[in-house]
This record gives sequence, structure tokens and C-alpha cells, in this order.
Amino acid sequence: MKIFCIGRNYQEHANELHNAVPTEPVVFMKPNTALVLKGKPLYYPDFSHDIHYELELVIRLCKNGKYIEPAFAHTYYDRITLGLDFTARDVQQKLKEKGLPWEIAKGFDKSAPLAEFISLEQLKNPEDIHFQLYKNGALVQDGHSKDMIFSIAEIISYLSKFFTLQKGDLIFTGTPSGIGPVAVGDLLEGYLEGEKILRCAVK
Ligand code: MG
Repeated sequence: MKIFCIGRNYQEHANELHNAVPTEPVVFMKPNTALVLKGKPLYYPDFSHDIHYELELVIRLCKNGKYIEPAFAHTYYDRITLGLDFTARDVQQKLKEKGLPWEIAKGFDKSAPLAEFISLEQLKNPEDIHFQLYKNGALVQDGHSKDMIFSIAEIISYLSKFFTLQKGDLIFTGTPSGIGPVAVGDLLEGYLEGEKILRCAVK
């Protein structure tokens, strides 16, 4: 199982990190040891002093594919949920400045808490999925999937040019604006269409 992640997929988020808006999807991966399931906490790692939350829509692929046309991409996933793309921003920034890959800033252990998947059919409005993150009870991120620079279909098609996509692979589809740091003691809660499905305490 592979975990693909898309960076800079919302204009306002690209702006807040002073990144150029990409002309092709920005792709990186996390290993499966990044996953945090069943509402377990994130233990703040000792190699960073600036861990940031990024709430994202995550899809799960339901069949294998290669060279998938965007028009058929919707047949390749059937489940969706929320995930956090925890990022060691200080580590990432140092590596970015040197032009080096920032894998360790994104793929470290427990950097990807994931809620339970739901069927796409359960979504109220699949064309514009609404999702929100609350930190300690305060709204910090408020996203709409229609604001994605690259749609889920375009992402699947793009990834499938380089990677054989396999049933069970996950795609983190990018974060909207409002990212920020977490501290020990924080509680993050993610809402999909108004329903709380993700909970992650920072310990
Ligand atoms: Mg992200």
C-alpha cells in the first residue's frame, strides 16, 4: 500500500507558505509507518520544534490502474475520509532552502493520522466536499474541495503516469489555508460535512 500526498493544491495555502502555485501536482509520499489509526495520539517528535497540522481529504483507491484518463478516474476510488499531514516545518524549511528532498519532514513515524473511511455515496455534496479542523475547540481550517487547484480526477491521472496505482493506495489531496503549529496538550478535531470523524491529541 502506497500513501501519496499532494502539496500546494489550494491557492490560499500556497500563498500562506509563499510558494508558487504549481502548474503540475506536487507529489510526495509517506511510508505506511506514518499512519495513525483509531484516534491514537501524535507523540511530539524530538527532532522538531515546529510540527504543523494540515487537514486533508484522503481517498482510497479501489482498483489497480496505470495511465488513467481523468474522465475515468472516478471509477478508481470509492471511499474517502480525513487525514492529517503532520509536517516538521522547521526541518522542511531547512531542506527546502538547500534544494534537498524534504521526505523526513513529512514521512516520519505517526505523521499521518487517518479517520475511518466512508463510502463516497454517503457524501451530501460530492462536487464540493466541506471539511474543517478545530484546534482546542477553535476553527482553524475550513476547506472546500472545489477550491483544489488539481481535482481528484486530475491527481489520479497524473500519478498513474509515473506509478502503478494499486487497490488500497491512499491519496492525501492537499490542505487548505489555515495551517499552523501544534503543541503538547493540543486536541485536533476534523469534521467532514459537519460530522466529527477525526480526533488526534498531541502528547
Ligand atoms: Mg499536506
